[in-house]
Amino acid sequence: MQKNGDANKKESPPNVTPVRPVQRAQQEQSEKPLDPEQLILNSPQLADQIKSTVNDLKIRQEDRSWAADLVNDFRENLLKFLRSSTDQPIFQSADFLNTGSYFEKVKISSPNEFDMMLTLQVSTRLNLTPLDDGLFYRIDLTRPTRTPIQAFLMEDELTLSSSRILGEMYRLVRKFLKTYKVPNDCYHWEVNKKKPYSPAVTLSLCKPENGSDELISVDVVPALEVQSWPNAVRGGPNVENWLGKKARQEIRSLPCYFVPKRRKLARNLSEEAKSDAKESWRISFSHIEKRFMAAHGNKKTCCESKSTKCCRKQCLMLLKLLIERLKHCFPKELDALCSYHGKTAFFHTLSARYSDSQWAKKDLPICFIHLVDAFEDHAHRGVLPHFFVPQCNLFSPDAFPRKALTFLVDVLKEQKKEGLPLLKPPAPAPAPPLKPETVSAETFAELAAENSFSPSWFPSVDSSFITKIIPVLMLVFLAVLFHVALKGNQDRH
Ligand SMILES: [Zn+2]
Repeated sequence: MQKNGDANKKESPPNVTPVRPVQRAQQEQSEKPLDPEQLILNSPQLADQIKSTVNDLKIRQEDRSWAADLVNDFRENLLKFLRSSTDQPIFQSADFLNTGSYFEKVKISSPNEFDMMLTLQVSTRLNLTPLDDGLFYRIDLTRPTRTPIQAFLMEDELTLSSSRILGEMYRLVRKFLKTYKVPNDCYHWEVNKKKPYSPAVTLSLCKPENGSDELISVDVVPALEVQSWPNAVRGGPNVENWLGKKARQEIRSLPCYFVPKRRKLARNLSEEAKSDAKESWRISFSHIEKRFMAAHGNKKTCCESKSTKCCRKQCLMLLKLLIERLKHCFPKELDALCSYHGKTAFFHTLSARYSDSQWAKKDLPICFIHLVDAFEDHAHRGVLPHFFVPQCNLFSPDAFPRKALTFLVDVLKEQKKEGLPLLKPPAPAPAPPLKPETVSAETFAELAAENSFSPSWFPSVDSSFITKIIPVLMLVFLAVLFHVALKGNQDRH
């Protein structure tokens, strides 16, 4: 670990002057925007910046693998516990979604945050009543039941309580942790305090001698599996040109999921609306989103060999990184912005620019600018339909204030004009991986296949977390130094 670690803590990335984007944009209105090809042609530095950011991200990808083994073990044992638990038979049907690539990166910046969805089967028929344009629902049984789900019904004996399922998930995870031993006994898992609008049970892996500092964070999200899709999403996502008719049919034959998430509401609403919001479920398609990422090509040959490599995943990573850093620099102005906006714009871009040749690896800079332009255009028009629930506009004034949208458009313009300064890593070079020696071959292959990146140097990482982790990193660095010195010695003999 370089000693510059703490230099990265609170500052914005270098070379970023938080300009007043509004004024700039007004000056620029007379200038005609360049198309991505011209822009890249005119600015080789911009192309270099994009390429070097992707390379840095790639180098960082092994950072989180030391964590993967511990998270794997936790996951497998929790599942065993739930399946054999007689307390709540509904949790005996539990399974983790998408075995094989269950690690969904929450943040590009934070290598040790993991997300896992725990699916639950309901054998009874359900009524799904939308509470908005199709994202949030009230879930009712069609008739009273004596099956295990009974324990999670409201007083009407029909409405499924999201808060009770989440509460029970918390209780079971706590119970599990009482007997579970982390393979490396220097660590232990702790359950975090419940957050009101979060559908997850959040856990931290801590090292006691470190003053209970968090090293890994895991979100376990319970999700009800429902076979028939509600009306609002019945058409299925618009992927025909991009992935083909057959893929669309296959997607439509998959179940959809509902996670126990409370809906945020305006104040002056009826008691009924308030109660529905409190017990609401949000529809989730993250299993299909993962599938999109895995089989992302217009042709099956995409990314099969070196000659057919595309840059789609890299473009999404870069956009997510840009969003994280924008939020870091302008937390108040861009409070409404989240990485899902970027992911949604990305999927729309993929279905519009569907040909594999439009995403050739060598064209990464141009492709990324195309994506940023598309994102900017959504913001400019105030229209970003949810990819699966097209009636739901993620950029509607209720969801995303106009002022924030204008601000977003302006900063995106500014970023392109200035050569994407926010993508520049803080100098000097990134730190070495945390614990490369703990990476099993299997985990490494899995991680490499996932092609996920994680710059540990990203400045928006929670600064208190960095302050806490620095002593650990220093120790690891010293251990690595010692190891290298020892090895050098042996080699000489
Ligand atoms: Zn590809």
